Amino acid sequence: MKRRDFLTKSMGVTAAMALPFSATAVSSENSWDREYDLIIVGSGFAGLAAAYSANKAGLKNILILEKMETWGGNSAICGGIACMPNTSLQKKHGIEDSAELMIKDMVKAGRGFNHPELCKTLATEAHTVYDMLIGCGVEFMDKIIRLGGHSAPRAHIPANASGGGIVVPMHKYLVNKGVQFQNRTQVTSLLRDKNNAITGVAVQEKFDFETEEFKAEQTYKSRHGVVVATGGWGQDKKFVKTTMPIYAHLEATAHPGATAGMIKSLLAVGSLPIMLDMYQLGPWASPDEKGAGPASFFADYSFSEGIAIDPMTGKRFMNELADRRTRAEAQLVVLEKGSEEKPNYPFTFCSEATTKRAEGFKGAYRDGAVNKSNSVAELAKHHGVDEAVLSQSIADWNEIVEGKPDPFNKPLDRRTELKPPFYSLRLSPKLHYCMGGVAITPNAEVIDATTCEPIKGLFAAGEVAGGTHGMDRLGGCSSVDGLVFGQIAGRTAANYKANA
Ligand SMILES: Cc1cc2nc3c(=O)[nH]c(=O)nc-3n(C[C@H](O)[C@H](O)[C@H](O)COP(=O)(O)OP(=O)(O)OC[C@H]3O[C@@H](n4cnc5c(N)ncnc54)[C@H](O)[C@@H]3O)c2cc1C
Repeated sequence: MKRRDFLTKSMGVTAAMALPFSATAVSSENSWDREYDLIIVGSGFAGLAAAYSANKAGLKNILILEKMETWGGNSAICGGIACMPNTSLQKKHGIEDSAELMIKDMVKAGRGFNHPELCKTLATEAHTVYDMLIGCGVEFMDKIIRLGGHSAPRAHIPANASGGGIVVPMHKYLVNKGVQFQNRTQVTSLLRDKNNAITGVAVQEKFDFETEEFKAEQTYKSRHGVVVATGGWGQDKKFVKTTMPIYAHLEATAHPGATAGMIKSLLAVGSLPIMLDMYQLGPWASPDEKGAGPASFFADYSFSEGIAIDPMTGKRFMNELADRRTRAEAQLVVLEKGSEEKPNYPFTFCSEATTKRAEGFKGAYRDGAVNKSNSVAELAKHHGVDEAVLSQSIADWNEIVEGKPDPFNKPLDRRTELKPPFYSLRLSPKLHYCMGGVAITPNAEVIDATTCEPIKGLFAAGEVAGGTHGMDRLGGCSSVDGLVFGQIAGRTAANYKANA
């Protein structure tokens, strides 16, 4: 059966089910195909954390629904970097940090548009995420790095430098606890009772994302409301184009299933939208790899210990460790100086010593995204820069490494001289993160657009919720966002009593 066939077919629930994908419906108490204590939609960080805390709170019959064949959405393909102040690992490395400092950094990056209580909740609860992950068997590297816009090194990296290093152990942990996982099940709408409380979902079972075919449509009841943890919609070209036309041509880094179906379902039940036209561009992205692969990981290290250059001037043009919006905008200015025939890709480069520490370097070098130059002349030729000016930029940087003030004020955790051989990467920002989403309370309750009060039985966490990061988020904060608010959503749902 195809999706459009399904949409024209009555589900025997109410006439409202004939509305398009994501329409709301009033559920009939007698027509449920299955019943659960809690249904969680989405198997990424937010969904997994919700299941974790709901299980801890005593719920038994928990179901995680996932529309794709594979688990974990963006969480599984991401770098898994998590910025958390006050963890035992950060303390072990003697790093001075605090939740207050992280809030300050987040608000600066968010241009002050962050919802204060959400931002505060993320920063103050972040260390509990670390403890939860260790308890689930997640392993971290024994080092903490600093990402752009953060005032302290607070980025924890999974041992395999991938979000899979979090998703896989959490999945295993939850299966052992009896949490049920059901993939290839697309939720098409949120169902509500006559009091407007969310009581369950309509689904398409055995859903095939490629063909949009499915075997059966069913309704599932959820006694403790529904947690929506369906992530962003960066791959939904139509939705992106409609909300922010100037980003429509940009490549997105998200997994193919990052489409807008569930945000539409949330809007259809009256959720309050926040900043749906606001997207983040990744400043470490390269035109020489698909999405954000190993090269983007390498770029973080090159930004930290090396420099970035505008080929047209041969000079630095940004603080390579500024927040993402600042860097992406600076790169767009450089790119706009070029033309289709003669593009002007900014590039970052570093010395060999840096590559030894950089996760992603080997893969990016093997795949050809990172280029090796044995001299300044080779580097200049490769990127079409004037050699003398580039030489001067390198000499200027090496003076900063020696202690001279940096006009861009980049924080230096490690002072590494720039010397050949150099390893360089071309840069071009890509659409990376949906800043907007539905409004939630600090308890992860979804807010109704007409009353500005929580919608009964509806909870959201992770990228599908908006507000925490304001206009732009800092690196390594989305994983923590999903895990913090996922935990909260699971707890709130466990305490929620339908018809109360
Ligand atoms: C390449 C890349 C690298 C990144 N690196 C980092 C990083 O290192 N650190 C960091 O903090 N952030 C990073 N991010 C951002 C971060 O990965 C995401 O914001 C985060 O994983 C979102 O988690 P989530 O649980 O909200 O959503 P997801 O992990 O995307 O999970 C949502 C799931 O819901 C499913 N779903 C959607 N609609 C439906 C439906 N109707 N029915 C059933 N299931 C549905 C999706 O298929 C998906 O599996 C990165 C993102 C990308 C793309």
